[in-house]
Amino acid sequence: METSIKIDVGTDVRRVFEAQRANALAISLTSTDERIAKLRKIQDYLVSHQEEIKRVMYADFRKPAVEVVLAEIFAITGEIKFVCKNLSSWMKPQKVPTSMANVGTSSHIKHEPKGNVLIIAPWNYPLSLCIKPLVSAIAAGNVAMVKPSEMTPNTSAFVKKMLNELFEYSEVAVFEGDAPVATALLRLPFNHIFYTGNPAVGKIVMKAAAEHLASVTLELGGKSPCIIDETADAKKIAGMLTWGKWLNNGQTCIAPDYLYVHESKKDDVVRELQGAITRMYNADGRGVEHSDSYSRIVNNRHFERVKNYIDDAVQKGAKIEIGGKTISNQNFIEPTVLTGVNDDMTVMRDEIFGPVLPIISYHNREEVIRYINAGQKPLALYIMSNDTENTQYFMDRTSAGDSVINDLLLQFGNSELPFGGVNNSGIGKTNGFFGFQEFSNLRGVMKRNFGTMKFVYPPYTDKVQKLVNFFVKYL
Ligand code: NAD
Repeated sequence: METSIKIDVGTDVRRVFEAQRANALAISLTSTDERIAKLRKIQDYLVSHQEEIKRVMYADFRKPAVEVVLAEIFAITGEIKFVCKNLSSWMKPQKVPTSMANVGTSSHIKHEPKGNVLIIAPWNYPLSLCIKPLVSAIAAGNVAMVKPSEMTPNTSAFVKKMLNELFEYSEVAVFEGDAPVATALLRLPFNHIFYTGNPAVGKIVMKAAAEHLASVTLELGGKSPCIIDETADAKKIAGMLTWGKWLNNGQTCIAPDYLYVHESKKDDVVRELQGAITRMYNADGRGVEHSDSYSRIVNNRHFERVKNYIDDAVQKGAKIEIGGKTISNQNFIEPTVLTGVNDDMTVMRDEIFGPVLPIISYHNREEVIRYINAGQKPLALYIMSNDTENTQYFMDRTSAGDSVINDLLLQFGNSELPFGGVNNSGIGKTNGFFGFQEFSNLRGVMKRNFGTMKFVYPPYTDKVQKLVNFFVKYL
């Protein structure tokens, strides 16, 4: 392993890449225990720096401390514990059966590290979405270059400090900066690129990866619907919807983007949402802007983007059922619920990624399927229903990265489930074993133990021909 000079890598991406490339073989040969030790170092660092993490995230966009602990720190420490518990079995050669035609051989799958990997992370969960993929990359035995988002500079500086303290740059290196830094990184011949962010940049990343035929994991976004059928209990789900939508101010890739509610339940849902929003964010009646539980939109550009959705919708005839208040110098938008929306409005075309929740309604479930399937496949699709047949109907006729029935967001926290999108909402899966696999090359290995295949070697006599015919017919 390379000597331990701690440096500020700046933008010298090529030099660091070469240092990592020279180190990749040594890292690939590390044992389970060595990899676990590295992951535990990250875990301990996060646990012992919780107060600092809360401070930097508050400075970035007033992320409430509870959300920092739950969705940033615990999201990583929980994953690390799961990985450490299972890594030994994942790293073992995975035996697979051998067909009769290959009698005399045995087969297994070897999960070998991909090698040099790049992780480009977004701002909305600026710690967990940067470090969780790194946990998978380290578990799989890779060297990694990491680029956190420029939009959350305080958290990105923390990520850099932490990884500089814990790793030699020849194993894990952090590059802060915006698109030009990402572009410089993307020119390098990585073996794998893991990108989390919007689909437009996802395409840029995939094109850059194609230059070197690097494999990619793209964790993207889109409009994730929540279907609420006529059997759902509006009172019961209102809390879930409020938490799931307004956690992190709606800036969650798997937040419900819009509700698709059975007409008979629409008024109940609006009424119960109003009650839940008040209970969660305005119990003292001073206004949501005074709530410590409500974060902010990340910056003024995104504030304007989301505000424009409301203005455009209202101008085209939508009704603000709840909220609507904005405070520009705080990047604050009240939890806002819209009805009377349609596809001429930008709020129904773009991914909202903010605290605005449009509601559309349906009379028959076929309409729902037609509407959802006319758009891009979502990252998440939620179903609120007490009817098993209805639930199955919606599940069978739609496609999505993940689904939760009768709750929201929880799929991200179960390391046993693959997490990721489909096509426009993403390529590849992560979490637990799926993350480990994403950063591994699945090398198929066969070993001959006895015999040969000489009975099919040339010259191709009638006997050989009969034998291969037998293969086709019986094996
Ligand atoms: P962002 O603006 O922070 O961008 C993400 C990363 O891409 C940043 O590191 C940024 O520097 C980099 N980047 C920007 N322009 C680039 C370019 N031209 N070339 C290369 N890299 C570039 O974050 P964002 O894109 O606004 O994030 C929000 C989007 O991410 C939403 O669509 C959301 O749904 C999605 N998202 C998906 C997941 C998931 O797990 N699937 C998680 C979080 C966010």
